[in-house]
Amino acid sequence: MVQALRRLFSVRGASDAVVAAAPAVSPREVFRRFWPYTRGGRRWLVPVVVFSMAGPVVDGAEIWLFKLVVDDVLVPRDLRPFLWIAPAYLGLFLCSGVIGFADDVTGTWVGERFLLSLRSDVFRHVQGLSLGFFERRRLGDVLSRVTGDVDAVETFLLSGVADALSYVIRLGVFLGLLCYLSWDLTLLTLVVVPLFWCAARYFSGLIKEASRERRRRSGSVSAIAEESLGNVALVQAYNRQGWEQHRFDEENTGRFRAAMASARIGALYAPVVEFIEVAGVLAVMGLGTWKLTQGQLTLGGMLVFLALIGNLYGPVRDLSHLGTTFYAASASAERIIELLDQRPAVAEAPRALRTGRARGDLRFEGVWFRYPGDGPGARARARDGGADRGAPEASWALSDVSFHVAPGETLALVGASGAGKSTVAKLQLRFYDPDRGVILLDGTDLRDLCLADVRDNVAVVLQETLVFHGTVRENIAYGRPEATQAEIVAAARAADAHGFVERLPDGYDTLVGQRGRTLSGGQCRRLAIARAMVRDAPVLLLDEPAAGLDAGSNRRIIEPLRRLMAGRTTVVISHNLLTVREASRIVVLDRGRVVEDGTHEELLAREGTYARLLRADGARVPGVPGRVRP
Ligand code: ATP
Repeated sequence: MVQALRRLFSVRGASDAVVAAAPAVSPREVFRRFWPYTRGGRRWLVPVVVFSMAGPVVDGAEIWLFKLVVDDVLVPRDLRPFLWIAPAYLGLFLCSGVIGFADDVTGTWVGERFLLSLRSDVFRHVQGLSLGFFERRRLGDVLSRVTGDVDAVETFLLSGVADALSYVIRLGVFLGLLCYLSWDLTLLTLVVVPLFWCAARYFSGLIKEASRERRRRSGSVSAIAEESLGNVALVQAYNRQGWEQHRFDEENTGRFRAAMASARIGALYAPVVEFIEVAGVLAVMGLGTWKLTQGQLTLGGMLVFLALIGNLYGPVRDLSHLGTTFYAASASAERIIELLDQRPAVAEAPRALRTGRARGDLRFEGVWFRYPGDGPGARARARDGGADRGAPEASWALSDVSFHVAPGETLALVGASGAGKSTVAKLQLRFYDPDRGVILLDGTDLRDLCLADVRDNVAVVLQETLVFHGTVRENIAYGRPEATQAEIVAAARAADAHGFVERLPDGYDTLVGQRGRTLSGGQCRRLAIARAMVRDAPVLLLDEPAAGLDAGSNRRIIEPLRRLMAGRTTVVISHNLLTVREASRIVVLDRGRVVEDGTHEELLAREGTYARLLRADGARVPGVPGRVRP
């Protein structure tokens, strides 16, 4: 029997979810963590409590008036008392309406204020997490936590507590009235209360497990939907809709199973509780009828007693059911706490220095870097000096990288795919900190500088051109929102974007789709260059600015890029651009190490890696023959 019940309520059996479950947290910890978010609406908690208290009192008075109608009007067949009972009843009814309205509005206000501040804080926290977090986590699951799970915390902390309070007050009022009517009947009424609690305790545990699984599966469903729909072009081009549907269905089925387990638990809980309730009412009816025949209780008293029991068992049942709601909500609270406990890998120093506008002197000194979680025991080996002994480990993304770019100079980083070029860019933006060595801007370690200042001093044009859903103007001004229209147009002209922008239906006010889907690759790239122009930062970071463009588009962005680079310290990651040949210095990376360093001519003369790379790329580099001779 027990086994059969277990199987009925089990949420297992489905395959493992895409998203891992968050660690369990005690209810007290949940309160401790989320109570501060009630700060903005705490003074409204008092009216909420007062309204919750007033409701049951008015309800109790209404039931008492009913007793008077039976005992003083119906039984003696006397209409006179009705003349004051009727207006009193109307007055109470009005009161109850007003209290209900005020309770609803203030309760919702307090709850929504709480959600406003919690959701905004969770979003702020997530935005502040390091890039590494987003590279490891599934975005859809993070979104599901910020949207869905946050709501459940409100249930746990506010509506749940307000309801609990209202139930307790209701219990107090109705118990008082019952005792006044007949204390021995009241005692009999209370005999079933422990049964309610036992049932609630048993079902709460089951509900908690099912709710956890449900929230986890919801996160997985969002994660897969986000991944598949975000890459819809790839999915359709490779005809992988079936596979994506299969992945989605698997998680969706997991969520369905968890939801069904919850429903089965809830569906069984309701009749069990009703059974206990009916047993209680029948016992009271038996004893009450006997008392009625003995003349110890009036008919009105008996009817009111039965009405009051309904009102008493209601809150007892709800109070015990609240436990299951609490447990369901705590599954979401755990997921939010796990998110809030994530610390950014890159943190600002306590007394970080403000730089203002930097000169643009950039230096990497003996930088070693490994991506977090890359290779078990890797860090220990590094500490032991294993990596220092010269054998470059496969898992070091950068090994002992040093270079210097003076203000206004251009440094080109070249190397085969996976050599570590983009990693240099990420470290320069302080998305990660080096494991060893330092990165200096104007002679100061990036770790000692204010994080916002480090990034304010850098303008980037990335491999993947990022265009937001918004107007062309907003997209260009993203780097400096206070830019004037004249500055935006000047930047667009310099980026060779003004021409095509003017031809768009609404010019600078044309909406470009998310990720620039309504623009060509070259147009997006020129918008990105205009954005970097408007930012006017002393350091420029170009990560494969011509990646994915054909020869014609490639040529078109070279001039805008030259204009952008003029007078700025530039690090350009590329190996198929003229700009590489024009760079003041070229650093060649191979599996995370600097293997060559010099000017274009010096490196060609050396006939080493650079010359080999250039030869391989010769067909794609304008002006570079397939066979390069010094
Ligand atoms: P490409 O020219 O193809 O863009 P790259 O020279 O820019 O390559 P990086 O992206 O810097 O190369 O990668 C260097 C190494 O670090 C590679 O071995 C890569 O697999 C690894 N790597 C890059 N990003 C991550 C990450 N987020 N987590 C773990 N390893 C990473």
